[in-house]
Amino acid sequence: MSPSQSEVVFEGISASPGIAHGRAFIYRKSELEVPEYQVPLDKRAGEFERLNHALMQTRGQISAIRDEVKQNLGEAEARIFDAHLMVLEDQALIGETEREVETTGKNVEACFNTVAQRYIQAFSEIDDEYLRERAGDIRDVASRVLHALLGQTAESLSEHLGSHIVIADEIAPSDAASLDRSSALGLVTASGGKTSHAVIVARSMNIPAVVGVREAMDAIAADEEVIIDGYDGLLILRPSEETLFRYGKIRQEKAALEQRLLKAVGERSVTTDGHLVPLRANIEKEDECQLVKDHCGEGVGLFRSEYLYLAVPKVPDEESQYRAYRTVAEAFGDEPVVIRTLDLGGDKPMTGAPHLFPREDNPFLGFRAIRFCLKHRDIFKNQLRAILRASAHGNVHIMFPMISGVAELQQAKAVLEECRQELRAEGIPFNEDMPVGSMIEIPSAALTADQLAPECAFFSIGTNDLIQYLIAIDRVNDRIAHLYEPTHPAVLRVLAEVVEKARTAGVKVSVCGEMAGDPLYVPLLIGLGVDELSMTPPLLPAAKYLIRSMSLTEAQELAREALTLASGAEIEARCVQFFREHMRSA
Ligand code: PEP
Ligand code: MG
Repeated sequence: MSPSQSEVVFEGISASPGIAHGRAFIYRKSELEVPEYQVPLDKRAGEFERLNHALMQTRGQISAIRDEVKQNLGEAEARIFDAHLMVLEDQALIGETEREVETTGKNVEACFNTVAQRYIQAFSEIDDEYLRERAGDIRDVASRVLHALLGQTAESLSEHLGSHIVIADEIAPSDAASLDRSSALGLVTASGGKTSHAVIVARSMNIPAVVGVREAMDAIAADEEVIIDGYDGLLILRPSEETLFRYGKIRQEKAALEQRLLKAVGERSVTTDGHLVPLRANIEKEDECQLVKDHCGEGVGLFRSEYLYLAVPKVPDEESQYRAYRTVAEAFGDEPVVIRTLDLGGDKPMTGAPHLFPREDNPFLGFRAIRFCLKHRDIFKNQLRAILRASAHGNVHIMFPMISGVAELQQAKAVLEECRQELRAEGIPFNEDMPVGSMIEIPSAALTADQLAPECAFFSIGTNDLIQYLIAIDRVNDRIAHLYEPTHPAVLRVLAEVVEKARTAGVKVSVCGEMAGDPLYVPLLIGLGVDELSMTPPLLPAAKYLIRSMSLTEAQELAREALTLASGAEIEARCVQFFREHMRSA
């Protein structure tokens, strides 16, 4: 046995709590390499045959997907794939490929790729939304045909999973969106920060995750035994018997603690001195309602609606969105369901429609969220109409992401008003009084909260982005992840200021960033005067337990003292001390 066969511990960043033990699945998202070579004249006919065969094989695959989608989601969603089938029958595309083979003498995959790229480029530049979207369809189908020609299968993360621990360079939100709860035991990525969207999804699925393990991809082979320690941010390769035993015990203890916390979950979320703090859930998909209820979430404080767009090959229509929003609204009756309008862009480009998201040097400072929506009015209005229609079926609230100031909020509200007028004229019911809120996640919005407040029914502070922009720390860059400090004095000051301005205007403040679900910071936020918290459902029990074991007065003292301290580390230490004192009995 070589020395490399003994246990190795890699340190990363803890991103989603929990322990996972299993075999490694190494996920490499390969860029398809299309070979190019000359084909002798007498072999050209064989090239055409190969093309026909690949087209048939792809047609079979797409028809099977269509049937599955029809069965699971319905005919309307399944029709998306009709467009893909039409691409396969496009005589111009096929004819041009054959001509390219004849004129250049090159192999058919190289020629098909050249022609398909030409089409994608041409469609991407058309000034018509519908036709531009066809570029995404062609790209998708072309990739399938090329895989078939090369005898490879198209990569999809969810296809590879079973009971494995996924090790990847990075996981795109579209990959994360296609994961389901039973598929991955754990996630390890070489890059990424604690608040990257793939990690947020992992956390909501209760999947332990460690990020920033740079050596992982090179050091670990497929099927090797690993443990992920999502509490301390460790990845342990080939764990020894002793390590396995230790982690077995930790798992048992954590499971017992979770059971104890779950017992309190049905109680009210109230401090020992009677202060109520509603605890709501962050969700990404409409099928998470049961999970929220299992953890007694009081409605939804953040529905990240863009996930409806991430896992599909084209922009979803009004009808399918309406169904999703209505499902959630009805599931929660009188409890609020806060639907955030599209926050695509940043680390969440829509992979199904790349022409809508040109590459940018600084995507987090770029064409994202409300900026995208105000430019793509048709997409925005579809969503707003769907949300308004869902408001007739529950306590739906709407909020706009990445608002930088009052002018932008007013523009968004004007588009909403246009949609209201259309629906009125069409006689379609909606709640005329649906509360409208703004996210506060850009420093300029925080500083002008007094101007935004009169335009809003509520604020929801997105600390993930607010911290990123306040202290200039890219939230998905693991090299600087240690500098991402929720307890930085500047963060506390800004939070206190937003709360004060909101209070003066009589506007309620929620926090829906990851900070809200971290039990270390729950008392601090409440002490700073935040009214409500919204977090990923599995984190609700610990937050509730903590709230029920502390008084508002103690939390306010903690916040008052924290505001006088000059370093994030000192404030963090005070939060840890407070947490220990109050969670001791759990
Ligand atoms: C945030 O920025 O804190 C937030 C809740 O939004 P997202 O994480 O989706 O950017
Ligand atoms: Mg945000």
